[in-house]
Amino acid sequence: MRAMVLHQQRAPLRLEERPTPEPGPGEVLLRVRSCAVCRTDLHILDGELPHPKLPLVLGHQIVGIVERGGSRWKPGTRVGVPWLAWTCGECRFCRSDRENLCDRARFTGYDVDGGYAEETIADERFCFALPDAYDDLHAAPLLCAGLIGYRALRLAGDAQRLGIYGFGAAAHLIAQVAKEQGRRVFAFTRPGDAEGQRFARELGAEWASGSDTAPPEELDAALIFAPVGSLVVAALRAVGKGGTVVAGGIHMSDIPAFPYELLWGERSVRSVANLARRDGDEFLKIAGQVKLRVETQRFDLAEANEALRRLRAGELKGAAVLVP
Ligand SMILES: [Zn+2]
Ligand SMILES: [Zn+2]
Repeated sequence: MRAMVLHQQRAPLRLEERPTPEPGPGEVLLRVRSCAVCRTDLHILDGELPHPKLPLVLGHQIVGIVERGGSRWKPGTRVGVPWLAWTCGECRFCRSDRENLCDRARFTGYDVDGGYAEETIADERFCFALPDAYDDLHAAPLLCAGLIGYRALRLAGDAQRLGIYGFGAAAHLIAQVAKEQGRRVFAFTRPGDAEGQRFARELGAEWASGSDTAPPEELDAALIFAPVGSLVVAALRAVGKGGTVVAGGIHMSDIPAFPYELLWGERSVRSVANLARRDGDEFLKIAGQVKLRVETQRFDLAEANEALRRLRAGELKGAAVLVP
């Protein structure tokens, strides 16, 4: 089978022929139908996340067909594989319904091989059933952009006026969910990105502008999906008393110093780490009920380096998806 393989961080992926992986007990062998590209993949490639397994197959938004293995899924079933690949089930986090924080967690496309390949294996307990309303191309971005975006939205509580910084793959899905929940959405893009702002308005944002501008009114919460630390300060300025700022990425540049008065008034800043299976179950149920518009750009598997380059350059609208 063909795979795009990372041998060394900060070097391009290489297209290689590899033997079909053999599923162990409780694992399924999947024929990959599509795999969406996440900013986390870029952080791994660029060396911003340390110590990946090497060589490594990236990719943790995998739509695949079960070929064999395990007992949970019948051969031929279409499943989704997310970032969370395995948890210990024993640590204090696993035992308190916070498996996303598991001390020994393993992650797809980081600690174990992922979906930039024609075939992959996954622990059957961490695979999700996927709603039929989405074809392979459009289901893939639900698995991280959607899922982790949803967790970020949940951590924003019942905020009515919601700011979203960085209008890419996660934001474009979560803006639609937020609208569906009756919230008001304010979108912040790169300054001068008129196309991105138009896209945000199309998806239900009532206001869209550059991240260097202030919203027309105070916000109750803000989600940050761009890896830029200064946005934390901008978002704190934009939220009112009691407001929450949620950072949704796994890596961010340093947050500049800011005056305490921006945090005063019971404002809070928090991050979102990984996902729990419950987030996936909840979000995919919503995605099955509300037909989300999923904006994708299709790339052949062998074009993975180009897809990653465009993500780094901010040249994508929606999510890049690799199709073997
Ligand atoms: Zn991801
Ligand atoms: Zn654990």
